[in-house]
Amino acid sequence: MDNPLPPGSVIGILGGGQLGRMLALSASRLGFDTHIFDPAPNGPAARVAARSWAAPWDDDGAVEHFASKCDAITFEFENIPASALAAAASKAPVRPGRRSLELTQDRLIEKQFIRDAGCQTVDFADVNSISDLEAGLSRLGRPAILKTRRFGYDGKGQIVIRDETDLETAWRDLGEQPAILEAFSPFQRELSIVAARAANGEMAIYPLAENSHEGGILRLSKAPAHVDSATENSAIEIARAIGAGLGHIGVFAVELFDVDGQLIVNEIAPRVHNTGHWTMDACACSQFEQHMRAVAGWSLGDTIPHSACEMTNLIGGDVTNWQGLASDAATCLHLYGKTEARAGRKMGHINRLFPLND
Ligand code: ADP
Ligand code: MG
Repeated sequence: MDNPLPPGSVIGILGGGQLGRMLALSASRLGFDTHIFDPAPNGPAARVAARSWAAPWDDDGAVEHFASKCDAITFEFENIPASALAAAASKAPVRPGRRSLELTQDRLIEKQFIRDAGCQTVDFADVNSISDLEAGLSRLGRPAILKTRRFGYDGKGQIVIRDETDLETAWRDLGEQPAILEAFSPFQRELSIVAARAANGEMAIYPLAENSHEGGILRLSKAPAHVDSATENSAIEIARAIGAGLGHIGVFAVELFDVDGQLIVNEIAPRVHNTGHWTMDACACSQFEQHMRAVAGWSLGDTIPHSACEMTNLIGGDVTNWQGLASDAATCLHLYGKTEARAGRKMGHINRLFPLND
């Protein structure tokens, strides 16, 4: 690699939740210092970082001050305002770049990009009014899913339009904001692929994970997923097309629906992803270390797992059983240091390892 950042360099992270925390921990193992920028002080990442900055996203001066102390900057979530990204980029290289955010922050732009990259998506319609919604439904049929174009996560900002759903109520419940209507995919299972792309275009791709959700929130990822080689190859091709199309530097994830062996792209996360947490204990180089390697311009690490893994999220009150989990020798416990175990909140996760090919 040209000009890799040496150990001792400072890597800035925009966003200070659990992904930022696990990025910071991995960065520190490689000898880097991390600085965290987040509007909320003292979050999960700030407490394991060398330094943290708390200021609103629209405080360009604060973002620039933070960035001026960093040798490179990355982010842990995709809803960073464009102005904050530009302020950061005026002082230090931001990896991944603006394009990765711009093409994935908005579900409509994202779906168009995925198709332009030569991958399949469900059919969709642009919805800005009730009449758009009616027109979209007459084309896509029911059930369909109405999603806000921006700021959705963990199933939030989505309404399933069933036969009996009243459209005016649904449109009001969604907040009457720019939306995308998606045909309902009759998938047999959900898969995801986590990949890293270096500045020179080289890629490192982990095996697929098979994922299950409860109440819109990821509960379980099993990896490597049991897939045939055609499916595996098709997922790798999708990851390559999307990584190259974004000009991405760093880790990203692609969520997939498996429909009779055909892979339909659901969404892209331009960052480390919950369905890649299994790599922390089942691979020599986790997705977090991998991301830091790419951001720092180091060579990418190995993605071949030494074990199979089941990752289970600890959501809300699950975490009160930490002593039981900690006393199970077969369980690798990861806690995020969040003080309040609110319902639906991701508090930690466990990885259980198994021999490969079991
Ligand atoms: P989020 O940003 O909340 O993860 P997703 O678009 O991934 O949003 O939707 C969350 C979950 O809802 C998906 O993992 C899948 O289970 C289900 N889902 C989303 N879109 C569709 C669709 N078009 N057809 C069927 N199920 C869907
Ligand atoms: Mg999703």
